[in-house]
Amino acid sequence: MAQTCTGCGAVLQSQEPDAPGYLPESAMGKPDPLCRRCYRIRHYGEFSRVALPLSTYVKEVSAVLQRPGLVLYVLDVFDLSGSMVPDLHEYIGNSPVVAVINKVDLLPKDVSPHLLRDWIVETLVESGIRPVDVCFVSAEENWGLDELEAAIALRRETRVYAVGMANVGKSSILNALAKRLESTPPFTESRVPGTTLANTHVEMTFAGRRTKTVIDTPGLILQHRVTDVLCNDCLKIVVPSARLRPRIYQLQPGQTLFLGGLARIDFETGQPQSLVFYVSNDLVVHRTKLERAEDFVRLHGDDILKCPCDTCRSALGGWTSTTVRAGVGIRRTKFHEARDEINVGPHGGDIVIPGLGWIALSGAPFGGIVWFRSAVHLDVRDRLI
Ligand code: GDP
Repeated sequence: MAQTCTGCGAVLQSQEPDAPGYLPESAMGKPDPLCRRCYRIRHYGEFSRVALPLSTYVKEVSAVLQRPGLVLYVLDVFDLSGSMVPDLHEYIGNSPVVAVINKVDLLPKDVSPHLLRDWIVETLVESGIRPVDVCFVSAEENWGLDELEAAIALRRETRVYAVGMANVGKSSILNALAKRLESTPPFTESRVPGTTLANTHVEMTFAGRRTKTVIDTPGLILQHRVTDVLCNDCLKIVVPSARLRPRIYQLQPGQTLFLGGLARIDFETGQPQSLVFYVSNDLVVHRTKLERAEDFVRLHGDDILKCPCDTCRSALGGWTSTTVRAGVGIRRTKFHEARDEINVGPHGGDIVIPGLGWIALSGAPFGGIVWFRSAVHLDVRDRLI
């Protein structure tokens, strides 16, 4: 049988250095092998990207989920819409789902993750998934792992699957669990989406007696999140590395606000108001006069707006835009219902740019335009916070 990498699960091969599972011939046949990529990630903190396209992803994950088990559906609290796996309900069959909301360490101070529970359950039910439990965790800070462990131990299923988009923290959570339960952690973690290439598994004993097979499945990359496309240097700026500090800007009509070179919101008409930006603390947020916006891009594309870099800019595509309204009419909850116009209505809402963060509008009268990169999808929701 072909030997597989104990980090990512890819079949080992010595022919193609850039393909999954590459290991030089001389290193083949040793016990507990790690492919070169996993070895570098683990020992040097080096990252590389391998994307699983939707068709391969569905094939791999639905094949493995044919055997029923408990599904840990891992979502990133910073990027809830971007971390939903499209049509997941179609291939998990009758397996019960525990929603595991990871990275709660990033939530702004004073925001209890539990306040988000109803919104999350409602959104999951809309997508065809009714979770049996919701756990809020931070793999990084080891928060909420007692509750997650208990939620898994309580269930009778002997197989446990971690499922989710790339980069939501599946491997980190399973590694943290493995450490607590004193199993060998074989899962490779990485800042770059798409590290876990094939299904990897480990036996873990819960509550001191229930041994279950825990399986990490590959992550899905759809290229519609900012983070699916950016290079390592840009990711360092865009992926929050610390608790989010809501950035509040008092805006007047006739002003515009840049989120690095990744997005921009123009305020054309309406009442002066505060907009709140939930983005990485390292990303430049810059306010200027609307009439100066084009000049500003020309003059500062390579300094103030230097994220994304040139390479990422071409990967993300040119600018595209949609109109935004608040304060009037009917609230739309989903962008796909209103592709050329977002209306958050009089109660306000969040404009979400998956992977980058979100902009909260209060519902005061607002008429304007949001600009974003064409590879990225927008979403709209009720205010999360
Ligand atoms: P996977 O692709 O879903 O298996 O994700 P990984 O476990 O490889 O994690 C992806 C990235 O998210 C890595 O850079 C992790 O350090 C980071 N990450 C994972 N868990 C957390 C968390 O609880 N908090 C924060 N802030 N980052 C996390």
